[in-house]
Amino acid sequence: MELNITPLSLPGIETQRPIIIAGPCSAETEEQVMSTACQLAGKGVRIFRAGIWKPRTKPGGFEGVGEPGLPWLTRVKKETGMLVATEVATPQHVEAALAAEVDILWVGARTVANPFAMQALADALKGIDVPVLVKNPVNPDLELWIGGIERLNGAGITRLAVIHRGFSSYEKRLYRNTPMWHIPIELRRRISNLPIFCDPSHIGGARELIAPLCQQAMDLGFDGLMVESHCTPDCAWSDAKQQVTPDVLDFILSKLVIRELAPTTESLETLRRHIDEIDNNLMELLAKRMRISREIGQYKLEHNMTVVQTRRYNEILDKRGAQGVLCGMAPEFVKSVFEDIHEESVRQQIELMNKK
Ligand code: PEP
Ligand code: MN
Repeated sequence: MELNITPLSLPGIETQRPIIIAGPCSAETEEQVMSTACQLAGKGVRIFRAGIWKPRTKPGGFEGVGEPGLPWLTRVKKETGMLVATEVATPQHVEAALAAEVDILWVGARTVANPFAMQALADALKGIDVPVLVKNPVNPDLELWIGGIERLNGAGITRLAVIHRGFSSYEKRLYRNTPMWHIPIELRRRISNLPIFCDPSHIGGARELIAPLCQQAMDLGFDGLMVESHCTPDCAWSDAKQQVTPDVLDFILSKLVIRELAPTTESLETLRRHIDEIDNNLMELLAKRMRISREIGQYKLEHNMTVVQTRRYNEILDKRGAQGVLCGMAPEFVKSVFEDIHEESVRQQIELMNKK
């Protein structure tokens, strides 16, 4: 589908990189909202975020203050001059947020993963000119992300942008949500005029990861950052670990190096980041393979089997060699990679046996 995207053109906001959106994960109390907003405005932040309705993984948690929190955002607008943004997940949210003159809406990762919900939002937004930011769906599915953007665009929303907030994975690693930078990069390649924000709070899930993630996003040519900031992060009712004070946010932003955008999106830097990410994945996979191989070693030990089982080894070499050819790699290369991997597996299994 051909998309009709117009520049975000947010009143009073310069579109110089990076465009900053900051504010608490959730609006909690009027005092917390006003205190955070005033501090952020004092640091020059021009767009304030706060979740009014919070999608929570399990029931029983804090699900947002709901509609009573909307007048607090209106007060932020009046008293600080900032634009305000909140998450909408249902047509009722859209109606209430627009009635409260919320300037920017964003759609959360769980909602974007659901085409029915996206269509319902698109229908509710028909004929309304409001900027909408679309987070990536929780699962790493670029088509689903684009599908959500298309639904909104089909309803006439042209001031669109996206927010990269990482993808959830079963195994928790360094990041709360794995960045998989190649996905937003591919999105940019496919829809080149769509502004991209990075949400380092939800990717990192930890304060100390915010600064490096912001820098990485800037190096990749992202247009803006959405960072969770709270007047007293440790006391936050949601996502406490990934929020920073307005002071810390200001410090992080002051250290950012903003480089000129390379003329093409597939700049050398982008490609190198991509390679780094693949190498990281390779290392993690290798470590996982070694772990399993040690478990096999344990089994062999308990069943009095030899470490090297020749038939199995030949089977691996043959199978991967043939696969390598299909993938356009020299069979000798694939053979030598698997010989090395096998050698390290054997070494680890023998080490295990010698420990007994
Ligand atoms: C949020 O921004 O607070 C939020 C709930 O984000 P996500 O939809 O990315 O989980
Ligand atoms: Mn949050």
